[in-house]
Amino acid sequence: MDFDWSPEEIAFRDEVRAFIASEMTPEVAGSIFIDTPARIEFVTKMAERGWLGMGFPEKYGGSPNPFPLAQFILNAELDRAGGPIIGKNVGTIASTIYNVASEEMKLDFLPKIFRNEGQWAITYSEPNAGTDLGSMQCRAVDKGDHFEVTGMKHYITSAHFCRWHWMALRTDPDAPKHKGISIFIVDHDTPGLSLSPMNTLGREGTTHRTNQVFFDKMIIPRERLVGEQNKGFYYMMQALDYERFAILSFASRVRRFNKIVNFYKAADYGGEKPAEDPVTRRALARMAARVEVGTMLERLAICAAQEEVPDVEAAMNKAWGASIGDEFAQLGLDLMGPFGGLWGGEHSAFDGKLADEYLMAGHARVAAGGVDTSKSIIARRLLGLPNALGKPELPAR
Ligand SMILES: Cc1cc2nc3c(=O)[nH]c(=O)nc-3n(C[C@H](O)[C@H](O)[C@H](O)COP(=O)(O)OP(=O)(O)OC[C@H]3O[C@@H](n4cnc5c(N)ncnc54)[C@H](O)[C@@H]3O)c2cc1C
Repeated sequence: MDFDWSPEEIAFRDEVRAFIASEMTPEVAGSIFIDTPARIEFVTKMAERGWLGMGFPEKYGGSPNPFPLAQFILNAELDRAGGPIIGKNVGTIASTIYNVASEEMKLDFLPKIFRNEGQWAITYSEPNAGTDLGSMQCRAVDKGDHFEVTGMKHYITSAHFCRWHWMALRTDPDAPKHKGISIFIVDHDTPGLSLSPMNTLGREGTTHRTNQVFFDKMIIPRERLVGEQNKGFYYMMQALDYERFAILSFASRVRRFNKIVNFYKAADYGGEKPAEDPVTRRALARMAARVEVGTMLERLAICAAQEEVPDVEAAMNKAWGASIGDEFAQLGLDLMGPFGGLWGGEHSAFDGKLADEYLMAGHARVAAGGVDTSKSIIARRLLGLPNALGKPELPAR
């Protein structure tokens, strides 16, 4: 199998790199979110070049010659450069809308996403429904031409600057728990929707700020129901499969790892060179191999996505990437000593990015179904191991 990019893909990657080199100002860099006027303008410039919809058909605002790998190349370059990424809007929401929504909804929302007309929040989690999303209780009561919602969600990233919510709600309280959930697209300015900040570990520009989102008799028009009523759990699982490889790229970890290696190659403490220390060399060599595996697993998931929604490959990417994030942060702090834990100032390692990585590692372990759920997917769907009820779900691949 050839894991390298083709000449066409390399040409696009180089075009993106040139764009980033000329357009990514200090106001744009420093966050993965499209949350300020400078970052919105930066992403809109890419939208005007047609880059956001390059993988989708022209009638939805995409391209006359769809180039499906473009969004992954673009996202990886943006992530590598430390700027706002398109993996949530395009890689997750647009991909799922394209697969499961009605023709009217695709014609309405996909062009808006590809023009960067607004940001999205993914609004699933509740106090008793995080990993186990099938347990969600927040009801959307079917009133015929609309649904009425009273309740709350929590830990919702991006809700304080989003235009739309990709929202899961319970529409049938009597059905088995996975069969009574529906997905809706909800305007953030809908009357009855309000927010309260939930600040988590981390700094601005990370997922530091999340939100509680409250609904008080909020009305959702029926035409904002995505796909079929009560099929939302399956749409959510599909969106999570995309989240496990399409939101964040492994490229930013490769970049940070290379920085550590370059730092060690150059370090010289009065003639004493840590690059010559066998313990340091061994730790870095071990991590280099693991970083390379991460890059390959990500490419495997991207390639698998060209055929169908990848579940096992996405889960392998997620489980490996988040675990490596943990190890990587720990290794960096071990090697840098107390300087690694500083958030800024002349002695901090890489402008505090190591400390950030350390704080964010916990979130990466639970986000998008997380490491544990991903391992369960690998166990059941790849290896054919029995589920919690003791029954194999699928033959081993
Ligand atoms: C910074 C941050 C941002 C977030 N952003 C969003 C967002 O934008 N939208 C959104 O909807 N949610 C968001 N979340 C919520 C996140 O998805 C949940 O925290 C996550 O799903 C875990 O759910 P929980 O907190 O209820 O923990 P629990 O589900 O109680 O899990 C606790 C621990 O137990 C493990 N565990 C649970 N069940 C199993 C199982 N069956 N098998 C093995 N291990 C298991 C988990 O992996 C985890 O380690 C965010 C959370 C954080 C911290």
